[in-house]
Amino acid sequence: MKITQLQASKDNYIYILTCEETKMVGVVDPTEAEIVLDWLDNHELELNCIFNTHHHHDHTGGNARLQAKFPECEIVAPAAEYDKIPNIDLPVIDGHGVRLGKLRAQVIDVKGHTKGHVAYWFREENIVFCGDVLFSLGCGRIFEGTPKEMWESLKKLRSLPEETIIYPAHEYTKTNAEFALTVEKNNPLLQNYVTKIRKMRYENKPTVPSLLAVEKAINPFLRCDIPQFKKAVNMEDVSDLEVFTEIRARKDSF
Ligand SMILES: [Zn+2]
Repeated sequence: MKITQLQASKDNYIYILTCEETKMVGVVDPTEAEIVLDWLDNHELELNCIFNTHHHHDHTGGNARLQAKFPECEIVAPAAEYDKIPNIDLPVIDGHGVRLGKLRAQVIDVKGHTKGHVAYWFREENIVFCGDVLFSLGCGRIFEGTPKEMWESLKKLRSLPEETIIYPAHEYTKTNAEFALTVEKNNPLLQNYVTKIRKMRYENKPTVPSLLAVEKAINPFLRCDIPQFKKAVNMEDVSDLEVFTEIRARKDSF
């Protein structure tokens, strides 16, 4: 699989996936069509598939124009958001397998940010496209679901193999990093990582994708059940879910 990372709008990432064997091309969360069409044109390729993680416009805004240009292009998107995303060809639910040429992905239900949010896990490539659920050093806002749903979704992603590379849909890492430091300032791995992130952003470099093993060590939203973390936030006797809910609420007003 070849992945091309395109920056779009202010802080969105659009990922173009190419199956190198079949030259089939997919795109994850095309917020806008133009940049994808330019890329396809430059590479003399056609678009075969759109993968949407959820219905928000900054993830689906390019769908209609891309499908108009490539009528055979299939839209793969959450079945639970069928009424919110026009022209879904393949509505998917948790556990479904989807294909792009020889590449295969498993759909994981990661509701919380929206009611039907899904992630696409390419197991053989150790890659997951996680939209607005898991960010580097952060997690998405809870718009349609409950904190419990979000926390369960994050734990699902956390349980993937440690070598999994996460591809979130936004460049939010610097703000997330500054917040994470307010929560667990004595975590030396976090301190080192934040230094690195500040430098990368100063140089205008993308900070994603990111490695799951690293996120598990420093992302506060993946650590709400870790005794060391609970101690750091003075919530040792509080349930994991309550810790998550509290940390998410603090981030909302950060
Ligand atoms: Zn969203």
